[in-house]
Amino acid sequence: MFIHKAFKFRLYPNQKQMELIHKTIGCSRFVFNLFLGKQKEKDAYWSITEEMKQNGQLSSNNWKGDYLNKYETIKELPELKKQYSFLKEVDSIALQKSVENLADAYSRYYKKQNKLPRFKSKKNPVQSYVTKHTNGNIAVIDDHIKLPKLGLVRFAKSREVHGRILSATIRRNPSGKYFVSLTTEVEGTELPKTNSAVGIDVGLKDFAILSDGTIYSNPKFFRSLEGKLVKAQRILSRRQERALQQKKPLNEAKNYQKQRKKVARIHEKIVNARTDYLQKISTEIIKNHDVIGIEDLKVANMRKNHNLAKAISEASWSQFRTMLEYKAEWYGKTVIAVHPTRTSQRCHACGHTEKANRPSQAEFVCQKCGHTDNADVNASKNIKELALAV
Ligand SMILES: [Zn+2]
Repeated sequence: MFIHKAFKFRLYPNQKQMELIHKTIGCSRFVFNLFLGKQKEKDAYWSITEEMKQNGQLSSNNWKGDYLNKYETIKELPELKKQYSFLKEVDSIALQKSVENLADAYSRYYKKQNKLPRFKSKKNPVQSYVTKHTNGNIAVIDDHIKLPKLGLVRFAKSREVHGRILSATIRRNPSGKYFVSLTTEVEGTELPKTNSAVGIDVGLKDFAILSDGTIYSNPKFFRSLEGKLVKAQRILSRRQERALQQKKPLNEAKNYQKQRKKVARIHEKIVNARTDYLQKISTEIIKNHDVIGIEDLKVANMRKNHNLAKAISEASWSQFRTMLEYKAEWYGKTVIAVHPTRTSQRCHACGHTEKANRPSQAEFVCQKCGHTDNADVNASKNIKELALAV
Protein backbone atom coordinates (compact mmCIF):
# COMPACT_ATOMS: atom_id res chain seq x y z
CA MET A 1 0.00 0.00 0.00
CA PHE A 2 1.24 3.47 -0.87
CA ILE A 3 0.58 6.57 1.16
CA HIS A 4 0.97 10.12 -0.11
CA LYS A 5 2.88 12.53 2.09
CA ALA A 6 3.21 16.28 1.85
CA PHE A 7 6.31 18.21 2.84
CA LYS A 8 6.09 21.99 2.91
CA PHE A 9 9.14 24.22 3.05
CA ARG A 10 10.00 27.89 2.77
CA LEU A 11 11.83 28.62 -0.49
CA TYR A 12 14.48 31.29 -0.94
CA PRO A 13 14.70 31.88 -4.70
CA ASN A 14 17.21 34.40 -6.04
CA GLN A 15 16.11 37.34 -8.19
CA LYS A 16 16.27 35.42 -11.45
CA GLN A 17 14.42 32.44 -10.02
CA MET A 18 11.72 34.74 -8.61
CA GLU A 19 11.14 36.22 -12.04
CA LEU A 20 10.88 32.79 -13.59
CA ILE A 21 8.45 31.64 -10.87
CA HIS A 22 6.22 34.64 -11.64
CA LYS A 23 6.38 33.88 -15.35
CA THR A 24 5.52 30.23 -14.78
CA ILE A 25 2.57 31.13 -12.56
CA GLY A 26 1.39 33.57 -15.24
CA CYS A 27 1.79 31.06 -18.08
CA SER A 28 0.05 28.28 -16.13
CA ARG A 29 -2.85 30.65 -15.51
CA PHE A 30 -2.86 31.72 -19.18
CA VAL A 31 -3.09 28.13 -20.42
CA PHE A 32 -5.78 27.27 -17.88
CA ASN A 33 -7.90 30.30 -18.76
CA LEU A 34 -7.43 29.86 -22.50
CA PHE A 35 -8.69 26.29 -22.60
CA LEU A 36 -11.42 27.10 -20.12
CA GLY A 37 -12.54 29.93 -22.41
CA LYS A 38 -12.54 27.64 -25.45
CA GLN A 39 -14.59 25.06 -23.61
CA LYS A 40 -17.07 27.67 -22.41
CA GLU A 41 -17.42 28.86 -25.99
CA LYS A 42 -18.08 25.32 -27.25
CA ASP A 43 -20.61 24.79 -24.46
CA ALA A 44 -22.30 28.09 -25.29
CA TYR A 45 -22.66 27.14 -28.99
CA TRP A 46 -24.06 23.80 -27.97
CA SER A 47 -26.64 25.46 -25.67
CA ILE A 48 -27.73 27.93 -28.34
CA THR A 49 -28.07 25.19 -30.96
CA GLU A 50 -29.91 23.00 -28.50
CA GLU A 51 -32.34 25.83 -27.72
CA MET A 52 -32.95 26.42 -31.42
CA LYS A 53 -33.64 22.72 -31.93
CA GLN A 54 -36.14 22.71 -29.11
CA ASN A 55 -37.84 25.80 -30.51
CA GLY A 56 -38.16 24.00 -33.84
CA GLN A 57 -35.80 26.40 -35.62
CA LEU A 58 -33.37 23.55 -36.33
CA SER A 59 -34.13 19.92 -37.03
CA SER A 60 -31.10 18.61 -35.11
CA ASN A 61 -28.19 19.78 -32.96
CA ASN A 62 -25.16 19.05 -35.13
CA TRP A 63 -22.85 21.01 -32.87
CA LYS A 64 -20.70 18.53 -31.03
CA GLY A 65 -21.12 19.14 -27.33
CA ASP A 66 -17.65 17.81 -26.61
CA TYR A 67 -16.42 17.15 -23.13
CA LEU A 68 -13.04 18.61 -22.42
CA ASN A 69 -10.61 15.80 -23.17
CA LYS A 70 -7.45 15.85 -21.10
CA TYR A 71 -5.11 14.17 -23.57
CA GLU A 72 -6.43 15.88 -26.67
CA THR A 73 -6.02 19.23 -24.93
CA ILE A 74 -2.46 18.49 -23.82
CA LYS A 75 -1.66 17.67 -27.46
CA GLU A 76 -2.63 21.22 -28.39
CA LEU A 77 0.13 22.69 -26.21
CA PRO A 78 2.99 22.56 -28.76
CA GLU A 79 0.86 24.43 -31.31
CA LEU A 80 -0.04 26.96 -28.66
CA LYS A 81 3.66 27.53 -27.93
CA LYS A 82 4.24 28.43 -31.57
CA GLN A 83 1.49 31.00 -31.31
CA TYR A 84 2.54 32.40 -27.93
CA SER A 85 6.30 32.11 -27.77
CA PHE A 86 6.54 33.31 -24.16
CA LEU A 87 5.17 29.91 -23.15
CA LYS A 88 8.46 28.37 -24.28
CA GLU A 89 10.37 30.13 -21.53
CA VAL A 90 8.74 28.24 -18.68
CA ASP A 91 8.56 24.69 -17.35
CA SER A 92 6.54 22.76 -19.94
CA ILE A 93 5.42 20.16 -17.40
CA ALA A 94 3.82 22.94 -15.34
CA LEU A 95 1.76 23.95 -18.39
CA GLN A 96 0.76 20.36 -18.94
CA LYS A 97 -0.20 20.05 -15.29
CA SER A 98 -2.32 23.17 -15.61
CA VAL A 99 -4.30 21.54 -18.44
CA GLU A 100 -4.66 18.40 -16.33
CA ASN A 101 -6.02 20.46 -13.45
CA LEU A 102 -8.57 22.05 -15.73
CA ALA A 103 -9.59 18.66 -17.16
CA ASP A 104 -9.90 17.21 -13.65
CA ALA A 105 -12.04 20.15 -12.56
CA TYR A 106 -14.28 19.53 -15.59
CA SER A 107 -14.55 15.83 -14.94
CA ARG A 108 -15.64 16.55 -11.36
CA TYR A 109 -18.14 19.02 -12.78
CA TYR A 110 -19.46 16.42 -15.25
CA LYS A 111 -19.91 14.04 -12.30
CA LYS A 112 -21.76 16.85 -10.50
CA GLN A 113 -19.11 16.86 -7.76
CA ASN A 114 -18.32 20.53 -8.07
CA LYS A 115 -19.28 23.72 -9.85
CA LEU A 116 -18.13 24.75 -13.29
CA PRO A 117 -14.42 25.68 -13.23
CA ARG A 118 -13.79 29.42 -12.96
CA PHE A 119 -11.19 31.62 -14.56
CA LYS A 120 -8.03 32.04 -12.52
CA SER A 121 -7.39 35.59 -11.44
CA LYS A 122 -4.14 37.49 -11.18
CA LYS A 123 -5.65 39.07 -8.08
CA ASN A 124 -5.92 35.81 -6.19
CA PRO A 125 -3.87 36.35 -2.99
CA VAL A 126 -2.02 33.05 -3.34
CA GLN A 127 -0.37 32.43 -6.68
CA SER A 128 0.95 29.01 -7.51
CA TYR A 129 1.85 26.43 -10.09
CA VAL A 130 2.33 22.69 -9.97
CA THR A 131 4.94 20.60 -11.71
CA LYS A 132 5.45 16.86 -11.85
CA HIS A 133 8.41 14.61 -11.28
CA THR A 134 9.97 12.89 -14.28
CA ASN A 135 13.56 11.72 -14.74
CA GLY A 136 14.91 13.33 -11.60
CA ASN A 137 13.80 16.86 -12.52
CA ILE A 138 12.76 17.41 -8.90
CA ALA A 139 15.19 16.42 -6.17
CA VAL A 140 16.38 17.45 -2.73
CA ILE A 141 20.11 18.11 -2.73
CA ASP A 142 21.44 19.18 0.67
CA ASP A 143 19.82 22.53 1.43
CA HIS A 144 18.62 23.06 -2.14
CA ILE A 145 15.67 21.77 -4.13
CA LYS A 146 16.18 21.09 -7.79
CA LEU A 147 13.16 22.29 -9.76
CA PRO A 148 12.53 22.24 -13.52
CA LYS A 149 13.90 25.34 -15.28
CA LEU A 150 14.71 27.01 -11.94
CA GLY A 151 17.66 24.79 -11.13
CA LEU A 152 18.79 24.63 -7.51
CA VAL A 153 16.67 26.77 -5.21
CA ARG A 154 17.72 27.29 -1.61
CA PHE A 155 15.16 26.15 0.96
CA ALA A 156 14.73 25.87 4.72
CA LYS A 157 15.11 22.16 5.30
CA SER A 158 13.11 21.74 8.47
CA ARG A 159 12.69 17.98 8.06
CA GLU A 160 13.81 15.08 5.92
CA VAL A 161 11.83 14.28 2.79
CA HIS A 162 10.83 10.63 2.62
CA GLY A 163 9.50 8.63 -0.28
CA ARG A 164 9.40 9.01 -4.02
CA ILE A 165 8.69 12.60 -5.11
CA LEU A 166 5.56 12.85 -7.27
CA SER A 167 5.02 16.57 -7.67
CA ALA A 168 5.97 20.02 -6.42
CA THR A 169 3.71 23.02 -5.89
CA ILE A 170 5.44 26.38 -5.88
CA ARG A 171 3.55 29.15 -4.10
CA ARG A 172 3.93 32.83 -3.51
CA ASN A 173 1.85 34.19 -0.65
CA PRO A 174 0.54 37.79 -0.38
CA SER A 175 3.49 38.95 1.73
CA GLY A 176 5.90 37.82 -0.95
CA LYS A 177 7.15 34.64 0.70
CA TYR A 178 7.78 31.56 -1.39
CA PHE A 179 6.96 27.99 -0.46
CA VAL A 180 7.27 24.59 -2.02
CA SER A 181 5.08 21.59 -1.21
CA LEU A 182 6.44 18.24 -2.25
CA THR A 183 4.06 15.33 -2.56
CA THR A 184 5.73 11.99 -2.12
CA GLU A 185 4.68 8.40 -2.12
CA VAL A 186 5.83 6.03 0.60
CA GLU A 187 5.12 2.43 1.19
CA GLY A 188 3.38 1.84 4.46
CA THR A 189 0.40 0.59 6.30
CA GLU A 190 -1.32 1.62 9.47
CA LEU A 191 -0.17 -0.61 12.28
CA PRO A 192 -2.78 -1.86 14.75
CA LYS A 193 -3.25 0.42 17.74
CA THR A 194 -1.88 -0.84 21.04
CA ASN A 195 -3.30 1.93 23.27
CA SER A 196 0.11 2.24 24.82
CA ALA A 197 2.26 5.31 25.47
CA VAL A 198 5.96 5.27 26.28
CA GLY A 199 8.73 7.70 27.17
CA ILE A 200 12.30 7.24 25.93
CA ASP A 201 15.46 8.46 27.59
CA VAL A 202 18.64 8.18 25.55
CA GLY A 203 22.01 7.79 27.20
CA LEU A 204 25.67 7.04 26.76
CA LYS A 205 25.87 3.78 28.68
CA ASP A 206 22.65 2.29 27.41
CA PHE A 207 21.38 3.58 24.13
CA ALA A 208 17.70 3.94 25.05
CA ILE A 209 15.74 3.40 28.22
CA LEU A 210 11.96 3.11 28.05
CA SER A 211 9.46 4.05 30.72
CA ASP A 212 8.11 0.49 30.68
CA GLY A 213 11.52 -0.71 31.84
CA THR A 214 12.82 -1.90 28.45
CA ILE A 215 16.52 -1.16 28.06
CA TYR A 216 18.25 -1.11 24.69
CA SER A 217 21.92 -1.34 25.49
CA ASN A 218 24.64 -0.58 23.00
CA PRO A 219 25.75 -3.86 21.39
CA LYS A 220 29.20 -4.82 22.65
CA PHE A 221 30.82 -4.90 19.22
CA PHE A 222 30.12 -1.14 18.88
CA ARG A 223 32.67 -0.52 21.59
CA SER A 224 35.27 -2.74 19.96
CA LEU A 225 34.73 -1.05 16.61
CA GLU A 226 35.04 2.33 18.28
CA GLY A 227 38.25 1.15 19.92
CA LYS A 228 39.58 0.14 16.51
CA LEU A 229 38.65 3.51 15.13
CA VAL A 230 40.48 5.38 17.90
CA LYS A 231 43.59 3.30 17.30
CA ALA A 232 43.43 3.73 13.53
CA GLN A 233 42.97 7.46 13.87
CA ARG A 234 45.97 7.72 16.17
CA ILE A 235 48.10 5.99 13.55
CA LEU A 236 46.67 8.30 10.91
CA SER A 237 47.67 11.47 12.77
CA ARG A 238 51.16 10.07 13.37
CA ARG A 239 51.53 9.46 9.65
CA GLN A 240 50.26 12.91 8.92
CA GLU A 241 52.89 14.40 11.21
CA ARG A 242 55.63 12.36 9.61
CA ALA A 243 54.60 13.49 6.14
CA LEU A 244 54.64 17.09 7.32
CA GLN A 245 58.11 16.65 8.80
CA GLN A 246 59.33 15.21 5.52
CA LYS A 247 57.63 18.13 3.73
CA LYS A 248 55.70 15.62 1.65
CA PRO A 249 52.29 16.64 0.29
CA LEU A 250 49.62 14.45 1.90
CA ASN A 251 48.24 13.19 -1.40
CA GLU A 252 51.70 11.75 -2.16
CA ALA A 253 52.19 10.21 1.27
CA LYS A 254 51.36 6.57 0.51
CA ASN A 255 51.25 5.28 4.08
CA TYR A 256 49.09 8.17 5.11
CA GLN A 257 46.64 7.53 2.25
CA LYS A 258 46.49 3.83 3.05
CA GLN A 259 45.66 4.57 6.65
CA ARG A 260 43.10 7.20 5.67
CA LYS A 261 41.19 4.57 3.69
CA LYS A 262 41.36 2.21 6.63
CA VAL A 263 39.88 4.84 8.94
CA ALA A 264 37.10 5.51 6.43
CA ARG A 265 36.30 1.81 6.22
CA ILE A 266 36.01 1.41 9.99
CA HIS A 267 33.91 4.52 10.12
CA GLU A 268 31.57 3.17 7.50
CA LYS A 269 31.29 -0.12 9.38
CA ILE A 270 30.29 1.75 12.54
CA VAL A 271 27.70 3.83 10.72
CA ASN A 272 26.17 0.78 9.04
CA ALA A 273 26.05 -1.26 12.23
CA ARG A 274 24.50 1.67 14.10
CA THR A 275 21.91 2.27 11.39
CA ASP A 276 20.87 -1.41 11.34
CA TYR A 277 20.49 -1.38 15.09
CA LEU A 278 18.50 1.86 15.10
CA GLN A 279 16.21 0.56 12.35
CA LYS A 280 15.49 -2.54 14.38
CA ILE A 281 14.69 -0.85 17.68
CA SER A 282 12.77 2.08 16.18
CA THR A 283 10.47 -0.34 14.34
CA GLU A 284 9.97 -2.35 17.51
CA ILE A 285 9.03 0.74 19.53
CA ILE A 286 6.64 2.02 16.85
CA LYS A 287 4.96 -1.40 16.72
CA ASN A 288 4.51 -1.63 20.48
CA HIS A 289 3.33 1.91 21.27
CA ASP A 290 0.90 4.49 19.88
CA VAL A 291 2.36 7.60 21.56
CA ILE A 292 6.11 7.92 21.92
CA GLY A 293 7.63 10.68 24.03
CA ILE A 294 11.22 11.67 23.33
CA GLU A 295 13.51 14.43 24.51
CA ASP A 296 13.95 17.43 22.25
CA LEU A 297 17.73 17.26 22.48
CA LYS A 298 19.79 20.01 21.02
CA VAL A 299 22.68 17.92 19.90
CA ALA A 300 25.95 19.72 20.51
CA ASN A 301 28.11 20.79 17.63
CA MET A 302 29.96 17.60 16.87
CA ARG A 303 33.04 19.15 15.42
CA LYS A 304 33.69 20.60 18.85
CA ASN A 305 33.18 17.26 20.46
CA HIS A 306 36.45 15.45 21.10
CA ASN A 307 34.90 12.50 22.85
CA LEU A 308 34.38 9.99 20.05
CA ALA A 309 31.90 7.74 21.86
CA LYS A 310 29.81 10.77 22.78
CA ALA A 311 29.98 12.18 19.27
CA ILE A 312 28.79 8.90 17.81
CA SER A 313 26.00 8.61 20.37
CA GLU A 314 24.77 12.10 19.63
CA ALA A 315 24.70 11.41 15.91
CA SER A 316 22.78 8.22 16.64
CA TRP A 317 20.24 10.02 18.82
CA SER A 318 19.24 12.43 16.10
CA GLN A 319 19.17 9.60 13.55
CA PHE A 320 17.02 7.57 15.95
CA ARG A 321 14.60 10.45 16.40
CA THR A 322 14.28 10.94 12.63
CA MET A 323 13.53 7.23 12.20
CA LEU A 324 10.90 7.26 14.92
CA GLU A 325 9.28 10.33 13.40
CA TYR A 326 9.00 9.05 9.87
CA LYS A 327 7.98 5.56 10.92
CA ALA A 328 5.29 7.07 13.15
CA GLU A 329 4.03 8.92 10.10
CA TRP A 330 4.08 5.77 7.96
CA TYR A 331 2.34 3.61 10.50
CA GLY A 332 -0.15 6.04 12.00
CA LYS A 333 1.56 6.56 15.37
CA THR A 334 2.55 9.75 17.20
CA VAL A 335 5.97 10.98 18.31
CA ILE A 336 6.08 13.94 20.70
CA ALA A 337 9.32 15.72 21.51
CA VAL A 338 9.35 17.31 24.96
CA HIS A 339 11.66 19.86 26.54
CA PRO A 340 14.27 17.85 28.42
CA THR A 341 14.80 20.25 31.33
CA ARG A 342 15.22 18.43 34.62
CA THR A 343 13.58 15.20 33.47
CA SER A 344 16.51 13.44 35.13
CA GLN A 345 16.23 15.23 38.49
CA ARG A 346 12.46 15.15 38.91
CA CYS A 347 10.93 12.39 41.03
CA HIS A 348 8.32 10.63 38.96
CA ALA A 349 6.41 9.56 42.09
CA CYS A 350 5.98 12.91 43.87
CA GLY A 351 7.30 15.54 41.46
CA HIS A 352 10.03 16.73 43.81
CA THR A 353 12.95 18.07 41.80
CA GLU A 354 16.52 18.48 43.01
CA LYS A 355 20.04 17.52 42.00
CA ALA A 356 20.53 15.40 45.09
CA ASN A 357 17.87 12.99 43.83
CA ARG A 358 20.65 11.58 41.68
CA PRO A 359 23.26 10.29 44.13
CA SER A 360 24.92 8.49 41.19
CA GLN A 361 24.64 8.24 37.44
CA ALA A 362 22.54 5.09 37.71
CA GLU A 363 20.41 5.61 40.79
CA PHE A 364 17.44 7.77 41.54
CA VAL A 365 16.59 8.34 45.22
CA CYS A 366 13.99 10.98 45.95
CA GLN A 367 15.11 13.19 48.83
CA LYS A 368 11.52 13.93 49.73
CA CYS A 369 9.41 10.78 49.36
CA GLY A 370 12.17 8.18 49.28
CA HIS A 371 11.07 6.74 45.92
CA THR A 372 13.88 4.78 44.30
CA ASP A 373 14.24 3.78 40.67
CA ASN A 374 16.72 3.24 37.91
CA ALA A 375 17.65 6.86 37.11
CA ASP A 376 17.05 6.48 33.37
CA VAL A 377 13.73 4.71 33.82
CA ASN A 378 12.62 7.50 36.16
CA ALA A 379 13.61 10.05 33.52
CA SER A 380 11.78 8.20 30.75
CA LYS A 381 8.64 8.10 32.91
CA ASN A 382 8.86 11.89 33.22
CA ILE A 383 9.27 12.16 29.44
CA LYS A 384 6.20 9.99 28.90
CA GLU A 385 4.18 12.15 31.31
CA LEU A 386 5.28 15.35 29.55
CA ALA A 387 4.45 13.87 26.14
CA LEU A 388 0.96 12.90 27.26
CA ALA A 389 0.41 16.39 28.69
CA VAL A 390 1.10 18.05 25.32
ZN1 LIG B 1 9.53 11.76 45.35
